[in-house]
Order: sequence, then structure tokens, then C-alpha cells
Amino acid sequence: MKKLLYLAVLLVAMPAQATYTIIIDPGHGGPRCGTSSPSKKIIEKEAALEIALALAKQLREKGHTVILTRETDRALDEHNLMDDLKKRAQMTTDYKADIFLSIHLNGSFNKSSRGFEVYVPYEDKYPIKSYALAAAIHYDLSHEVEPEFGGGNLGNLNSLDRGIKASRFNVIKRATCPAVLAELAYISNPATEEKLLKEGYGLYVTALYKGINRYIVHNKKE
Ligand SMILES: [Zn+2]
Repeated sequence: MKKLLYLAVLLVAMPAQATYTIIIDPGHGGPRCGTSSPSKKIIEKEAALEIALALAKQLREKGHTVILTRETDRALDEHNLMDDLKKRAQMTTDYKADIFLSIHLNGSFNKSSRGFEVYVPYEDKYPIKSYALAAAIHYDLSHEVEPEFGGGNLGNLNSLDRGIKASRFNVIKRATCPAVLAELAYISNPATEEKLLKEGYGLYVTALYKGINRYIVHNKKE
């Protein structure tokens, strides 16, 4: 009986793991394809959705409420890009979100461009928290993904780490919670394309999952 009482006290005393409302935004969709790989086998809007769906599944299993801005190949506004971006950001207000993550893949005319970068809003209502979220995601991208591509987070010339940057991207600028946009890889790079076609996006899903959890562990809700 004493033991049971002790257990009951312990359970009450233990803070429950906070559950967060997380909005994941797979970039583009519908008529807007984003960028594509040299062979056109990877289309940004499709890859972003695949990563977002897998990430959502893992975060939901952890108990979080996850809302995707789109779960199929569609735009939120087919005719007007600005309205499309506004509607994505508006969901952070509608759902009282704690975290907003927009997922993109990059492209460049320079085929040797490669690596990942994480953006925070330049005019930020939550500057420290957006940076903390970006830093957590950046940490796990640099540790989970980079070594697999032959780079490392050592500041060397081969590094694929393009850092954390401020931007005026509308989709994160208008979010009403800590917000980050991740450009996960340059799919215009033939070596990156080859690796992704062979191995899929599991590394990225793991890195984003770990990064979001890392942020949650170290930051209380707004
Ligand atoms: Zn994009």
C-alpha cells in the first residue's frame, strides 16, 4: 500500500511531456511544382510532401498535434501566390500553433551548389524562439545528413552546411508562432539527386524529427 501511494505521488509529481501543435508546410503544390532535379525524377512539391507526411506520422506517434498545410498535391490558392502563402501562415493563428516548419528543396543553375540552409523570419515576433528552433533543426541536419554526403560540421571547404539565415519569406514572416523554413538539399546537384533517388528521404525525416523534439525539450511554450 505504501508502495502504491509512493507511486501515485510520483506520477502526480512528474510533469507530463508537453504536447505541441505543430504545423508542417510542404512547400508549393498544385500548379506550382517548385524546382526539380536534372532528370526531373525529383519534383520539389512531391518530395516536400513525402517528407512532411513521414515527419507528421512520427510526431503524431510522439503525441503531438500535427497539421499539414496540404496533404495532397494542391495549392491553397491556385491563382494567387501571395494568397497561397498567406493562407499557409494563417493556419498558425487558426490552430494556435506552437511551431511552424516549412519544408523546401533548393535548385540552382550552378549544378555544383549543394547543402542545406535553415531560414528564420527577418522581422520576427519570436526572434529567440525561431532561432532556437532553427538551431535545433540545423544541429540535427548537420549531424544526421551531412556526414552521409561526405561533409561534416567542421567549417571545412567540403562542408554542406550553409547555415542559419534571416529572410523575408512571406510564409514564415506571417506566422504567429516560432517559424522556420528549411531548404533541405539542392536537388539540382546530380550527386544529391542520385543519392536521394537511391536512398529516399529518411535521413531528412529523422533529422527534422530530432530537431523539433530537441527544440521542444529545451523551450517552454509561448
Ligand atoms: Zn521551394
